[in-house]
Amino acid sequence: MQDLIGRVLAFQNRVFPDQSALYTRLARHGQSPKALMISCADSRVIPEEMMQAGPGELFVCRNAGNIVPPFATQNGGVSSTVEYAVAALGVRDIVVCGHSDCGAMKALMAPETLAGMPNVAAWLKHSSAAREVVCSSYKGIEGADAARAAAQENVVIQLAHLRTHPSVAAGIAQGEIALHGWFFDIEKGDVLALDGVSGRFVAVREGMELPVALPAATRRAYDQDSVVEVAA
Ligand code: ZN
Repeated sequence: MQDLIGRVLAFQNRVFPDQSALYTRLARHGQSPKALMISCADSRVIPEEMMQAGPGELFVCRNAGNIVPPFATQNGGVSSTVEYAVAALGVRDIVVCGHSDCGAMKALMAPETLAGMPNVAAWLKHSSAAREVVCSSYKGIEGADAARAAAQENVVIQLAHLRTHPSVAAGIAQGEIALHGWFFDIEKGDVLALDGVSGRFVAVREGMELPVALPAATRRAYDQDSVVEVAA
C-alpha cells in the first residue's frame, strides 16, 4: 500500500504537470464523456486502460459482476449513475463489460462458496438468469468454462436490465443510444464484443467493424401513422 501511496506523489510531480492544461479545461468547462462503461470491480480490469481513455473521456461504474439491477428493484448507485450519464451528460454509448476469471461469476456458478457473504449473495441474484441459462443450455459445461459462459451470458442479461431504465429506454426509442456488450480476456488481452444480430461474442480485430449489441436506431413499437379513425 505504501508503494501505491508513493505513486500519488509521482502523479502530482511528474504526470499532472504535462496534463495540467487538460485538467484545467475539464475543471472549468465540465465533463463530456463519450461513453458509459459498467465493468467489474476486479483489479485486473481497467476500463480506461482498455479503451486508452484519458481524463474526461469515459464515465465508469464498477461493481462486483458488472451488474445493472433492473429499474425499480432498488434505488442504488448503478441506477443513479446510469440515469445521470444519460439524462445529464447525454452519453450515447453504454458498454457492459464482463471478463474472464471473474470471481463474481465463479461464485454465481458455485453459490455454496458464498457462505458468510450475504451481501454478495443477494447482489448476485441480479445474475440468476445467467446462471439458469448456463445450467439449462450448455450441456456438460463445468469449472472455468462454465464461469466464462456465465460471464458472457451475464453481459446479455445486464444489457436487458439496462433497457428497463426509463432514461435508457427513452434514448433507445429515440435512436440516440447504442448498447454494447464486451468481454475482456485478462490473459490474452482480447476484447470480445457481442454481435446483436448473431447473439454471439466475437473477438475485435483490426480493420473490422465493431460488433454492437443494439445499434442506435429509432425503435418505436407503435405505428403512429396507422391510426384509423373510429366512427363515433
Ligand atoms: Zn469480475
